[in-house]
Amino acid sequence: MKITIGHLYPDLLNLYGDRGNIQCMMKRCQWRGIEAETLEFKLEDEVDFSKLDIVLLGGGSDREQMIVCKRLQQIQKNFKDYVEDGGVVIAVCGGYQLLGDYYQTDEGRMEGLHLVKLHTEQKPGRLISNIVLKSDLFDMPVVGFENHGGRTDIGDNQPFGKVLYGSGNDGESGYEGIVYKHVIGTYLHGPLLPKNPQVCDWLIEKALERKYGKDIELQPLDDQEEKEANAYIVNRFVK
Ligand code: GLN
Repeated sequence: MKITIGHLYPDLLNLYGDRGNIQCMMKRCQWRGIEAETLEFKLEDEVDFSKLDIVLLGGGSDREQMIVCKRLQQIQKNFKDYVEDGGVVIAVCGGYQLLGDYYQTDEGRMEGLHLVKLHTEQKPGRLISNIVLKSDLFDMPVVGFENHGGRTDIGDNQPFGKVLYGSGNDGESGYEGIVYKHVIGTYLHGPLLPKNPQVCDWLIEKALERKYGKDIELQPLDDQEEKEANAYIVNRFVK
């Protein structure tokens, strides 16, 4: 079996090393004997979604998001078809905001991809914190770090998790991120997947199931260190 990961615009969207999530997906495939490759796309490159099994859209500053959002409009239709066909996407922070209808900032309004019904508005003060979630998809809590000025309204969509510590989508609803089909959008930055191996395996499993058209049960890995890193954050912040 083989997985191809598409990393969209790492030159512009790679805040806090979102790239580490790619390494994690690659390694967790390879440790199980699943072939894995990553294709990096620059802004001007054509993206052939039919060749991709997982797409990563990372975080960025408002300035970088503004540049990227213009290009995303041009690939919107193919990206939407991929998502509706069950294509796997992990979108982090700035990338998460761009999945929705728009991101309104003091500098102007960025048109989103309209892949998922959500929108984001910038409000005074940034939401910067360690964060711990309980997601219905996983037994382990999900841990990470958030830093965003945008507040995201996901309407009636399924959130990624309930906030046990931190701010989440808007600092008020008590929820973080979004899950739509095989898309996860989240404000959790940087080493999201290394500290949350169940999230990583969910993405890999969904991608393989779509590609090979059958149920896949991934071989368990020794996640002792990952579990310790996760538990350390949970114990530190959730009483
Ligand atoms: N620029 C966006 C915001 O501040 C996203 C930031 C990010 O990706 N960390 O809300």
